[in-house]
Amino acid sequence: MSQMIIIDRDGVINQDSEDYIKSADEWIPIPGSLEAICRLKKAGYLVTIASNQSGLARGLYNEETLQQIHDKMDRMLAARGASIDGIFYCPHSPRANCVCRKPKPGLLIQIARQFDIDLSVTSFVGDSISDIQAAQMVNALPILVRTGNGEYVMQNYPEAIDVPVFDNLAHFVRDTLRKNASE
Ligand SMILES: [Mg+2]
Ligand SMILES: [Zn+2]
Repeated sequence: MSQMIIIDRDGVINQDSEDYIKSADEWIPIPGSLEAICRLKKAGYLVTIASNQSGLARGLYNEETLQQIHDKMDRMLAARGASIDGIFYCPHSPRANCVCRKPKPGLLIQIARQFDIDLSVTSFVGDSISDIQAAQMVNALPILVRTGNGEYVMQNYPEAIDVPVFDNLAHFVRDTLRKNASE
């Protein structure tokens, strides 16, 4: 069975914005995050994204624009010799009460089914309390990064205290690959 790392998008791979990421131009990678994904891929990991995109339901951007944003990410990864194995997102508004909007674990369950992976050995790297909660609900391994909302979560949610924290995605990946090498 393949090893996978699941990653939240906004605030982990790219810089987040309170005004949402509404265009490819607004999608700016956090330094080191794309290189970190490349390192995971070269080490043999599957890498997928689980992202809330309620901006779709809010009419802030459409599916076509979201595709353009992901095309930009794909191009930047391809230039570094890597690709993402799957991008999973919730397009719904919070009021829709869907099963896929984090903190509900629907996206993680969908990923696990599609790739036949064991969530109990799979890290989900996020910057929000909803990422941590989604991971905990399906017994995956929550990881918090300090980028995006991460610092806020550490200061405001005591339940985040037991979750491993890293400065950013690059630091998490370095630590993961180092542990792998020593096993
Ligand atoms: Mg986020
Ligand atoms: Zn949804």
